[in-house]
Amino acid sequence: MQYRRFGKTGLELSVFSLGTMRGLGDFRQFRATVETALALGINHIETAQAYGNSEVYLGKILRELPPSVGDRLVLTTKLLPGPNLRGQLEQSLQRLQCDRLACLAIHGINTPEHLHWLQTSGLAQLAAIKAAGLVRFIGFSTHGPVDLILATLETQAFDFLNLHYYTFFQRNAPAVQWAQAQDLGLLIISPADKGGQLHQPPPQLVQLCDPLSPLGLNYRFLLSDPRITTLTVGAATPEELIAPLEWGDRTHPLTRKEEAIFSRLAIALQENLGPTQCHQCYACLPCPEEIQIPELLRLRNLALGYGMTGFGQYRYGMVENAGHWFPGRRGDRCTDCGDCLPRCPSQLPIPELLRQTHDQLAGRPRRRLWEE
Ligand code: SF4
Ligand code: SF4
Repeated sequence: MQYRRFGKTGLELSVFSLGTMRGLGDFRQFRATVETALALGINHIETAQAYGNSEVYLGKILRELPPSVGDRLVLTTKLLPGPNLRGQLEQSLQRLQCDRLACLAIHGINTPEHLHWLQTSGLAQLAAIKAAGLVRFIGFSTHGPVDLILATLETQAFDFLNLHYYTFFQRNAPAVQWAQAQDLGLLIISPADKGGQLHQPPPQLVQLCDPLSPLGLNYRFLLSDPRITTLTVGAATPEELIAPLEWGDRTHPLTRKEEAIFSRLAIALQENLGPTQCHQCYACLPCPEEIQIPELLRLRNLALGYGMTGFGQYRYGMVENAGHWFPGRRGDRCTDCGDCLPRCPSQLPIPELLRQTHDQLAGRPRRRLWEE
């Protein structure tokens, strides 16, 4: 396992972190997963007040750790934006059975309202928490659009950032750049699941990534980038840690063979989508119906380009069902107003593509045209 400096915090974190959103039902299994992660070299565990029993379970486990292990461990918890952060944090500390934490993140600066809260109340609350010595470093996680992330970074109030950024989603690349410019620690959220459900890749993608696995390729994309500190593994069992952590020493720059795989992926996208490929420039927004055109067409790109229909269905299923964690409306809400059409440099027939995307990814079996 390699370790990297977590930006200006100066902490040295393992390049993989244990995320504890899953596997919360069975304490014994949870404990085995944590103990295996620590034995395999992970020294950073990420939790959140919103993750069910996670903090309580971790508190029980951490209390029993030998000092030689516990002293090396860095813990991050996350609190939802809102009033009384200090009260919330004190609850978390009680559950985690500790007096102070290394890292505290705001869980989801996802909307302009969250940013407003930060500017008018959140930052002052965080500063008071830091001044009281309850946490050493503060950061935030986000599912918001890149402009909002950059506006949040403009506050220059943070020590680290938890970000979505993957081989198949590079829209947040400017935030990676800003994180480096501000010397922030950078944690990438869930490269396996959010990065494309790469733990269960379709055969077409497996073939394109050969001799690497799709998940391995994504890990290499991220680990070869020295601006990134650590990647979360949301293992629910000890066994689920084994395959990801085999990549923990492979932090060298991309090899020519690996670069050739990325070229192959780009060519496959062009060949399989032809002139209907969405180039993810985001120029088509805003849509008066609040359809996140680029994101829906990204799912279409992945389904048609690489056979990632399952991932597309999984993500599309969240549209209109996950609040500000997955904003925007479904493709079939398009009213053909035509506002987006002149803004698209690729001259895509956006309404038609959105309806097609909806038909394919909303899971109506009789119209599985992409799988034929
Ligand atoms: S044509 Fe459809 S997708 Fe385009 S802006 Fe109008 S409602 Fe939105
Ligand atoms: S403007 Fe066209 S190419 Fe750019 S994101 Fe929108 S649909 Fe895709």
